[in-house]
Amino acid sequence: SAPLELTLVVAATARDMGIGANGGLPWTGLRKEMAYFARVTKRGDGNVVIMGRKTWDSIPPKFRPLRGRLNVVISRSFPPGLPKDPAGGPDAGPVEASSLETALEYLRQKKAVESTGTTANGGGRVFVIGGAQIYAAALGLAEARRVLLTRVMSDFSCDTFFPLALGSPTSAEEAEKTASAPKWVQRSRAEHAAWIGEEVPEEVQTENGTEYEFQMWERV
Ligand code: NDP
Repeated sequence: SAPLELTLVVAATARDMGIGANGGLPWTGLRKEMAYFARVTKRGDGNVVIMGRKTWDSIPPKFRPLRGRLNVVISRSFPPGLPKDPAGGPDAGPVEASSLETALEYLRQKKAVESTGTTANGGGRVFVIGGAQIYAAALGLAEARRVLLTRVMSDFSCDTFFPLALGSPTSAEEAEKTASAPKWVQRSRAEHAAWIGEEVPEEVQTENGTEYEFQMWERV
């Protein structure tokens, strides 16, 4: 069966990869950006969103678990070992995992069961949706293949940061240090559109006075 692959989804400031402030998002009112996140993570069947406990806490209770996706939450306070199936139907949950690794083991076993035909399908996409701690854990794994980045050009004061610099100018000295590290390349708008299954706007988006653009990066 196809190896499990992880796609990180994040909105981060261009200046310093800021993603959060005071337990929430640094910005407000990016409704189309949030709609993009929802469409992309829902498209197809059987998709999964994995998040840290603090990100789960940051979602208003009436919106969680995020609908139409299997939600997996990571916390050291959850029992060790393989997580249990969530009680209730497909939109129930979340699945509670004590580490990212056990979450992935759970999803591998679930995929294996699904591909034997006992349930609908084994082809769902697995998205890592934050926050910084869980992105860092994911980026340490070979399974992390792709980042769907909303690059926020407007500046915001942040206290939480995406732990990988994408697209910021690299000095020769920095390039030297990271020579052995995996390389991340930005894919074209056409490749991005093909992967997410919808057109990607070419122009910079402006909402609420905040400027941003949609990008896709892949590890090579
Ligand atoms: P996280 O959402 O990454 O959650 C951190 C928690 O996850 C920890 O406190 C711990 O839970 C658990 N955890 C972390 N590492 C491990 C591990 N190795 N094993 C087991 N459990 C682990 O928190 P952050 O503070 O990093 O990020 C939250 C911030 O990011 C918020 O401001 C949020 O709004 C923002 N955010 C922004 C996004 C964006 O796209 N701009 C997307 C998502 C979040 P416990 O303490 O229970 O043990």
